Amino acid sequence: MKSGWVDRDAETIVAAGAKSGIDRDLALRIYTTRLLGRDPKLVLHGGGNTSLKEVMRDRLGADVEVLRVKATGADMAMIDLAGLPAVRLSPLRKLRALGEIGDDELVGIERASLIDLAAANPSVEIMLHAFLPHKFVDHTHATAVLSVIDQPDGEKKCAEVFGGRLAFVPYVMPGFGLAKKAIDVFERAKPSDGLILSKHGIVTYGESAREAYERMIEMVSRAEEFVARRRKSVSAPARRGSAEVAQIAPIVRGACSERDKTNEGAWRRLVLEFRATDAVLNFINAKDLARLSQAGVVTPDHAIRTKNWPLVLPPPEPAKLAEFARVAHDAADQFAARYHRYFEQHNARVGHIKHELDPLPRVVLVPGLGLFGLGRTKRDAEIAADIAETWVEGVSDAEAIGRFESISEADMFDCEYWPLEQAKLGSPKEPPLTGQIAAVTGAGGAIGAATAKAFAAAGAEVALLDVNFAAAREQAKAIGPSALPVVCDVTSAASVRAAFDAVAAAFGGVDIVVSNAGAAWQGRIGEVDEDVMRKSFELNFYGHQRVAQAAVKIMLAQGTGGCLLFNVSKQAVNPGPNFGPYGIPKAAELALMRQYALDYGGDGIRANAVNADRIRSGLLTADMIASRSKARGLSEKDYMSGNLLGREVTADDVAQAFLHQALALKTTADVTTVDGGNIAAAMR
Ligand SMILES: [Zn+2]
Repeated sequence: MKSGWVDRDAETIVAAGAKSGIDRDLALRIYTTRLLGRDPKLVLHGGGNTSLKEVMRDRLGADVEVLRVKATGADMAMIDLAGLPAVRLSPLRKLRALGEIGDDELVGIERASLIDLAAANPSVEIMLHAFLPHKFVDHTHATAVLSVIDQPDGEKKCAEVFGGRLAFVPYVMPGFGLAKKAIDVFERAKPSDGLILSKHGIVTYGESAREAYERMIEMVSRAEEFVARRRKSVSAPARRGSAEVAQIAPIVRGACSERDKTNEGAWRRLVLEFRATDAVLNFINAKDLARLSQAGVVTPDHAIRTKNWPLVLPPPEPAKLAEFARVAHDAADQFAARYHRYFEQHNARVGHIKHELDPLPRVVLVPGLGLFGLGRTKRDAEIAADIAETWVEGVSDAEAIGRFESISEADMFDCEYWPLEQAKLGSPKEPPLTGQIAAVTGAGGAIGAATAKAFAAAGAEVALLDVNFAAAREQAKAIGPSALPVVCDVTSAASVRAAFDAVAAAFGGVDIVVSNAGAAWQGRIGEVDEDVMRKSFELNFYGHQRVAQAAVKIMLAQGTGGCLLFNVSKQAVNPGPNFGPYGIPKAAELALMRQYALDYGGDGIRANAVNADRIRSGLLTADMIASRSKARGLSEKDYMSGNLLGREVTADDVAQAFLHQALALKTTADVTTVDGGNIAAAMR
């Protein structure tokens, strides 16, 4: 590992800081915190923190010694001034006299000591930084260091690797107790460079930002070299194709879902993120996977993201997926039962004060295939997968130099259920479609894009399918980094199959499909070319059938129901003159919706349709609006609001109708009219 320090970059940030009143030490604290944060081998998703002690002038002109420490949950790679709240040091230092202190009381004292009372909460490891006397303190959970210290003889290995420059602090749960233990060890041993926190991480310090940072790099490099010398080389493992991942992921996802007992028909679902690096494949294909997979986390704060153990499934055989599904469900049930027992046992130990988290796995290992990270959102799934990859590396390397050993199950419970750790995960209030995956066809167009946006705002992960990939990509970009653009020509069975494989591989499956892609053809029905009729049927009927079939296949593999939504338009119930080539396949599409509702209701799959009219979109362009309103002698505004309510209907109105149908768990075979009122198109 090389130092990322570049003099010119450091001076740039110092110069920029000077303009907004940030002193040199603080600017360099920001600089090296970012350097640490950008390397996942040092710091991953909120693990790790840094601090600076300096003198500040308060509002009354008095000098006050403060600790600037990373805010809890802040991303070190992007840290700025707000991510380093300043806390008065002297009240914190005095706390050392106390034997112990409750979390709430400690947080209260920290908050009362903030210079800016509106600042974010400081890191849960603030007291470690407060007690150490050094100006700059850096703390990481560097993977290579964890491999060295997650050992039965971790202390001996530390002495061998770090040669006494880091003192060894035996395992204590993060927080006040660890801070006290660490300062005791420091004062006894007076190590030159920092501390090792057993089974947890590394601390380095210095009188300058560069000194503390480069000590971190040097110590981690020593650990890396120690491990690298002993690591056995392995050949590149065989890798399965993405179509196979797409087949297996929905089975895994279904097995790792649970019924919502408070709301019949609802499920608690997770989103998946697949990984199959060489390191992952070598690990999951190893002979001692049974032991290693159950050995525990590499550092305590991972427990909140990955739980203490992954779910391990048998290798799936492509020809025997039904058998794989059965075994996967059994294994997931056993996982949940074990998690429940673990919770009960340790909750009893602490006096029944904790609330059980959901018992679903956050990491699933599938030998021969890869690993899945699971989370309530795609982002959470990615974080779980990142941490699982680090765990794989940490455990594999620990085994290369000795034998991996984690903290005890009781210690893991104390971290997993520590309120200050749980606080890193943010608010438990979730939007209604959280955990669900929605695929929208024709998502590059007005109604599709508005629908994808509305579903994403309601918490769903969204895939935007369109024959025009650039249009889908543009709309996905507007929604956010997790939105997935996929090219999909619904007139091609192969294209639809590939698109749904891509959705299943990216998210683990699909729960809601909005079958929206369409285009209009005209012609007087007695004279129209058969070719025109066939073209329209390909897109406006068979397109929907292909999409619904592909979705139902995934939904059945998941076994958690689902929702098919069709854009049928008013033509399905109220034909317009010379619109037969468009209206007739749309009428067939309405029948298709009802058939899906009938045939798959028993599987919990609902089918509904929206009957919308006169929406500004690719089917009703600005030019068409101009010519039609002129032909009828109306203003454009009167033409667009020519309905019972006298209101123009927008793509957002249609999107809200689809959203309502997705949420209405007791509604199937419904047609919702979104046209401002048109008696001739009303359902009867
Ligand atoms: Zn830590």
